[in-house]
Amino acid sequence: MSGPFEENKFVFQEIVHPEFKKKNIRLTIARLDMLHPVVSGNKLFKLHYFLKEAKASHKKLLTFGGAYSNHLVATAYAAKEIGTNSIGIIRGEKPLLLSHTLKMCIEFGMQLEFISRSEYKKIHEPCFLEYVANNHKDCVIIPEGGFHTLGAKGASLIMNKLLIKDPTHICVPVGTATTLAGLLLGSKEQLVIGFPAVKNMTDIESRINTLLGEREHNNLRIIYGYHFGGYAKATNDLIIFMNKFYEEYKVPLDFVYTAKMMYGLWEKINLKYFPAGSNIICLHTGGLQGNKSLQKGLLVY
Ligand SMILES: *Cc1c(COP(=O)(O)O)cnc(C)c1O
Repeated sequence: MSGPFEENKFVFQEIVHPEFKKKNIRLTIARLDMLHPVVSGNKLFKLHYFLKEAKASHKKLLTFGGAYSNHLVATAYAAKEIGTNSIGIIRGEKPLLLSHTLKMCIEFGMQLEFISRSEYKKIHEPCFLEYVANNHKDCVIIPEGGFHTLGAKGASLIMNKLLIKDPTHICVPVGTATTLAGLLLGSKEQLVIGFPAVKNMTDIESRINTLLGEREHNNLRIIYGYHFGGYAKATNDLIIFMNKFYEEYKVPLDFVYTAKMMYGLWEKINLKYFPAGSNIICLHTGGLQGNKSLQKGLLVY
């Protein structure tokens, strides 16, 4: 990769457990969370081609997000890294107290523009994006969450790094499904398994078709049922799992995405979902700054 992420070093951490050994299953975490202390690893990949475009055309970056958006911080950070400015269009009126996430965006030099929730709903409409683009001719426009063909293409670069481990299964948490689409795009014969972090996410296939074009995705699997009440919701059970996982393996998980995937993955291994001989790689996509919105003292890390 070029640009700020040239030196990306991928850390792989194998999770050793007697039960896995008995089942002849290997589980390895690709620690994308270690690529940067605050920026989610998968976000940097999704931004890759947008950054290339911004550098080539000397433009700013403009994107969208809510007050806790990991994508927003990643964009602010990346813009700073490549020496350009960024604009964040934020969902909702400006609050009295800015969230930790938005403060970080400002620290990275992002200019924030707050719009009402009803107006924000329009950001997915092509005419609205066109309107924004016309008003910001000096910006590369990145859709919310990087949900764009270029975002998926960037995420596919992750797969190049995983293939050296010769995996049979790749697991990833799903928000917009852009990272999942990218992994599919870069996959050979591996099964790519998504764990939605959002309740009632029934449009993953159509999202992937939007990003990659209509075609068969025989190696795509989606495991529902591990959203723990919905996006950015957590149960006691999930928090206990996170603490145990940290104490056992020294891997901090975030409650919005990676903890839900890991919980589901763990349960599915125990339920013999994965055949003997499986070499599973799951992505720790980062997002740890999100844990700051949890009540203090809940987590042991
Ligand atoms: C954004 C994010 C995801 C979801 O990625 P999508 O490409 O939107 O599906 C997963 N994990 C973390 C930590 C994230 O910040």
